[in-house]
Amino acid sequence: MARYTGPVCRLCRRERMKLFLKGERCFKEKCAIEKRGYPPGQHGQRRGRKAMGYGIQLREKQKVKRIYGVLESQFRLYFQEADRRKGITGENLLQILERRLDNVVFSLGFASSRAQARQLVRHGHIVVDSRKVSIPSFQVRAGQAIAVKEGSRTNTQIQGSLESASGRGVPEWLTLDA
Ligand code: SF4
Repeated sequence: MARYTGPVCRLCRRERMKLFLKGERCFKEKCAIEKRGYPPGQHGQRRGRKAMGYGIQLREKQKVKRIYGVLESQFRLYFQEADRRKGITGENLLQILERRLDNVVFSLGFASSRAQARQLVRHGHIVVDSRKVSIPSFQVRAGQAIAVKEGSRTNTQIQGSLESASGRGVPEWLTLDA
């Protein structure tokens, strides 16, 4: 599946909030939101009008897409699937997004951002129930064991991420055996 390859801090600036797309940098003074917390572009500073109705819905959708690194077409498919399932569509949608393998890898702290987690998956560093899975959108099921491949456990990037993520904690629905 395709992914966004442009400047990411620009996405946060467009939403006027931190979306935490760059790992450690997002917690430092270098964060673009700290320096220029207004939308990008020539007229960014003049874009003060408050969003209403559809505008609010659009911005919220864009935020979710950008946080999880999903493009419009895949997001649309996720929404259709969430709508088809029983229960509250919004909750179903978030469940589908949270169960993406790249998100789980990030949530477990193996990577400092979802983009880095996606790369770890793509490069074959992650195994699910001892079998290599290199598809970032893979839907993790309850009871599955996600791990770093045996040969990649000494990877300094992964170790560094685990260290810095130790204070972050993992979501209640995941268990980490560091
Ligand atoms: Fe967003 Fe992180 Fe860039 Fe700050 S450093 S603007 S939070 S991606």
